[in-house]
Amino acid sequence: MKGLPATARVLIALVALPTITLAQQPRGLKVFISVDMEGLAGVVTSTDVNASGPDYAYFRAIMAAETNAAIEGAFRAGATEVLVRDSHGSKQNLLPGDVDPRARLLRGASTGPKNMMEGIDSTFDAVVFIGYHAKAGTPNAILEHTSTGNVVDFSINGVSLPEGGYNAMVAGLYGVPVVFVAGDRAVVEQIRGLVGPIEGVAVKQEIADASLGLSPRQAQDETRRGVEQAVRNRARAKPYRIPGPYTMVLKVRQERPLFPGAQRVREGEFTFSSANLFDVLNAFNAMK
Ligand SMILES: [Zn+2]
Repeated sequence: MKGLPATARVLIALVALPTITLAQQPRGLKVFISVDMEGLAGVVTSTDVNASGPDYAYFRAIMAAETNAAIEGAFRAGATEVLVRDSHGSKQNLLPGDVDPRARLLRGASTGPKNMMEGIDSTFDAVVFIGYHAKAGTPNAILEHTSTGNVVDFSINGVSLPEGGYNAMVAGLYGVPVVFVAGDRAVVEQIRGLVGPIEGVAVKQEIADASLGLSPRQAQDETRRGVEQAVRNRARAKPYRIPGPYTMVLKVRQERPLFPGAQRVREGEFTFSSANLFDVLNAFNAMK
């Protein structure tokens, strides 16, 4: 700029400034989607969601389609980043090429307590549950269980929790609210009962152990719309927090070896206490 008049140098300097200053820069909007299988449209028996089942490949494609509907809804609501956590069984159900390429996929079993919420941290703005199911012992529910078939009940500080309940607590540790749940009618009601009146889609309901449900395409359309709405209205949802310290009560059918620090209350019933939720989840995972 040597040789130019001073006013021209100032003008050039102003034009060269980044058009968006740091203070004005919109913060990214990050959405975390945890996807289980038992609560997907049409799923009714465990063989539907087991790799050896005759219709597993079909329901695996349904899983990808419902996931992609949620991803689309999130991006329509302004998401800048979406992380999908495959949350069923071996966590190897979603085939990477089947997932909307705008999202990143967290695939495979992980070590540590986060499990179905692996990858969550405080940079996220909203959590979405797809394909979720009610806790063990829930009446009028499809494929209800809590983590394994061995768990009779799992509670923290007296609150009996489904998978979506303790997963919501993990998100809550990072200040991130659950904004949407899709699954059968029982799990939608159960999650709302814990975290509040969030958006949800009941893709099916139990009728005498059978499943009456939406067509997969209808479930996907409603999920897309519901997730978009939920992410837009995320400020209305509150992070789910149960104040610590935490005491769990775990009731199981078959006892596992005692986790260090846990107590056996009676046959099939254990307690464990800690100020750290992850310690409690480690104890749960070891003895469930
Ligand atoms: Zn599952």
